[in-house]
Amino acid sequence: MDRFIATKRISNTLIIEGEELKHIFAKRIKIGQELELFFEDKLYLCSLEKLTQKSALCIVIKELELATPLPFITLYQCVPVELKTMDFIVEKVSEVGAYRLVPTLSKRSFQDIPTINKRMERWKRVALSAFKQCKRPKPLEIGHPTKLEELRANHDLNLLLDNFGGEKSPKDLNLKGVKTVSLVVGPEGGFTRQESELLRKRGFIPIKLYPHILRSETAALLGVGLIMNLSTPS
Ligand code: SAM
Repeated sequence: MDRFIATKRISNTLIIEGEELKHIFAKRIKIGQELELFFEDKLYLCSLEKLTQKSALCIVIKELELATPLPFITLYQCVPVELKTMDFIVEKVSEVGAYRLVPTLSKRSFQDIPTINKRMERWKRVALSAFKQCKRPKPLEIGHPTKLEELRANHDLNLLLDNFGGEKSPKDLNLKGVKTVSLVVGPEGGFTRQESELLRKRGFIPIKLYPHILRSETAALLGVGLIMNLSTPS
């Protein structure tokens, strides 16, 4: 079923306007057709009631409560120096099932917090667009920029994709009963030795992905995807 973003609500009617309305026309949604609408953090099953050049009026049939698949993965992604790479990461880890992404500042990451803050709205838009396309229950949450030295191993399982190697591979992890996972991924230039040691001392388990050195975005995508799929209930 097609999914759209509503702009406002009046009583039992959700309204789509502006840019989003173009998607209604592009998908040739017909009067009476059912569709999913996202509004103020909730998802609704609706039916298109009236369509004009200015707006689409949709009657709410019911609220949809979709279960978020476990585990909840928080990706601490060191912000790539090539900032636009973060758009790709947001889109792809949304699809493969990360719950939250926290832009993380490390020695070799992009550093300028005001610029990162300006990009947050854009990353939220990318997350919303991925949410519509891949039909996840909620958009990927984007957390506040955080310094690597502030990270704590406070999830059920805490993993570090380490460019200095790791004792384990994802298949060695016992994911049974694990509800929350943190995953730290370095920027293009990797972690410094001190950063790797700091995170290991704090309890993050260093993980090695097979077989080569991956780009940061490939490592993030593969890391999240593997954890989700190795955790999938059989
Ligand atoms: N400059 C580093 C080097 O030559 O070792 C490579 C950094 S890599 C491009 C960027 C990040 O992706 C790393 O910090 C790590 O988090 C992750 N990564 C890449 N390949 C990996 C692998 N095979 N196993 C685990 N993590 C990996």
